[in-house]
Amino acid sequence: MKVAVFSTKAYDRQFLSAANSPIQHELVFFEPRLNRDTAILAAGFPAVCVFVHDQVDAPTLELLASRGTRLVVLRCAGFNNVDLQAAADLGITVVRVPAYSPYGVAEHAVGLILSLNRKIHRAYNRVREGNFSLDGLLGFNLHERTVGIVGTGKIGLILGQIMKGFGCNLLAYDVYRNPELEALGGKYVELPELFANSDIISLHCPLTPETHHLINTEAIEKIKPGVMLINTSRGALIDTQAVIEGLKSGKIGYLGVDVYEQESELFFEDLSGEIIQDDIFQRLTTFPNVLITGHQAFFTAEALYNIAETTFANITDVEQGRSCANEIRA
Ligand code: NAD
Repeated sequence: MKVAVFSTKAYDRQFLSAANSPIQHELVFFEPRLNRDTAILAAGFPAVCVFVHDQVDAPTLELLASRGTRLVVLRCAGFNNVDLQAAADLGITVVRVPAYSPYGVAEHAVGLILSLNRKIHRAYNRVREGNFSLDGLLGFNLHERTVGIVGTGKIGLILGQIMKGFGCNLLAYDVYRNPELEALGGKYVELPELFANSDIISLHCPLTPETHHLINTEAIEKIKPGVMLINTSRGALIDTQAVIEGLKSGKIGYLGVDVYEQESELFFEDLSGEIIQDDIFQRLTTFPNVLITGHQAFFTAEALYNIAETTFANITDVEQGRSCANEIRA
């Protein structure tokens, strides 16, 4: 199949081309993101392949459909950037990669927890400057601390398994209980109880209308003072302005985020030397107890390999008229 691959970086081309070599789909790589302005690039392509920041909204889908596109292939799990109803109305099939690196994302969340707790990001800079003072680097034992996991699907469960290994107690909140999390000793509670009793809160639920700004001013009022908040899921789970107020008051003791609500203006690009216009993001970067990574939690060799393999299996299923287990519908 002829596939227009949007938002491609060198690493995407490397892994997608390798996985495609035995299959020989006709891939054309485009660096720009897919949106209303760039949809024209896909004219005549029956399939487009997109990532997290491509805007697959109704007008873009209409432009794609009018020029022959019938398949949208997401090379990610989250699909909050796709208007599924519009796709269905236009007869466009949407497929995704539901799991490609749950270990990678959970391990990155643990990396944020360990770095924030033991101030490794600050110690790294100090030692390089010849400053071996320990003032300001005091941490706490993870052993017997309570970790609250919001969303106990694939990634949340693995985080629970890892934190159990540190000797942590596990609290959990989800719309469905995961028996594997309960078998670890994890206790499902309502959100206010999780907020009140967790030393570390880690978000692993999808972004939906129900979870938008899950961490807002009211939630921050309920949390244990000095909590560590970790978000490797989607930026808009957090009301960033409310979290900044929580950091200023000390109610939030640590913040580790791999995602940010307005990240599409910033992440995945080298903006060094440019003036960042986002004042909320810039304020976040000034806190010593805030650690931000640029949506890299998924970024392991295993994940890129799995993404490429599943992407082409999905395309082949649709091309050959088989039902695709990874199709998503409105
Ligand atoms: P998953 O589908 O296996 O698990 C998500 C869990 O969230 C499910 O158990 C679901 O029941 C639960 N959930 C749904 N609505 C909820 C609600 N209102 N409140 C509480 N829980 C709710 O997904 P996963 O593979 O574990 O991924 C979780 C999220 O991680 C994805 O949605 C995606 O946004 C994010 N993600 C981020 C990266 C990254 O690089 N930072 C990579 C992959 C995934």
